[in-house]
Amino acid sequence: SKGKLVLVRKFTAAEAATLAGFIDLVRRHGHALAAEISPDHFPALEDVLREAGPDSLIFTLSIRTTDSAHAIGSYRRLTENLRTLGLNAPIWIRNTAGTAVLGDPSFLSKLLEASFLSGSLLCDGVGDFISIETEADPVRATKLAYNVLQGAGARISKTEFVACPSCGRTLFDLQTTTQRIRAQTGHLKGVKIAIMGCIVNGPGEMADADFGYVGGAPGKINLYVGKNCVQYNIPQAEADARLIALIREHGKWVDPDPVPAAAT
Ligand code: SF4
Repeated sequence: SKGKLVLVRKFTAAEAATLAGFIDLVRRHGHALAAEISPDHFPALEDVLREAGPDSLIFTLSIRTTDSAHAIGSYRRLTENLRTLGLNAPIWIRNTAGTAVLGDPSFLSKLLEASFLSGSLLCDGVGDFISIETEADPVRATKLAYNVLQGAGARISKTEFVACPSCGRTLFDLQTTTQRIRAQTGHLKGVKIAIMGCIVNGPGEMADADFGYVGGAPGKINLYVGKNCVQYNIPQAEADARLIALIREHGKWVDPDPVPAAAT
């Protein structure tokens, strides 16, 4: 079967007829148009958009517009324009070099830029698709997008971990323990696991975790289901297996996908 194409094009206030032509073109061929219309240019194109309706249309921006200090403001104005027009079309949040504030090439900076823009808008209920175009590697870009979606609670695709920052009270090596538990349970979509260094403040800071792994005493772990401690002072060496057994008991365990054999 033929795939659906999404044509991406910027339209200025002077291009009402061109916009109408593109909408007609994509509809005749069963494709979609991602129209980039800056909020300043939107009023001049309203008649065409009102007449056309939302079918086959997506709205997006790839730059911060001059009226806003951040691209978040530009997207909010676009959303308001669509709402005022009564045009219920999807919004595609694009994280690009033009929406970035610093444009720093480090992965951490790309993560932060994407989290600010997409995360803020998704938490406002704005946005139907996101893309991270600042990352050239498509696998990393997709992973980053899923992380942002998960952080904003828009799409849960993996286990969520909550860990305390550790302090003088911490009763085990928080970093290696978190890594070890993550390696065994990181495939449990939608399960939230808290790993806390002590029982003094840990249980109160587990937020709404489904399961908790909490330092009870030196070399001993307490396991929680929600806010309830269900196993006390179990030897740390047994705690990972007991946590997994507990997750199974509560019907939240699935076996990880088998690792595919290496090609020869
Ligand atoms: S939960 Fe306990 S160990 Fe972790 S930071 Fe808080 S007080 Fe420190």
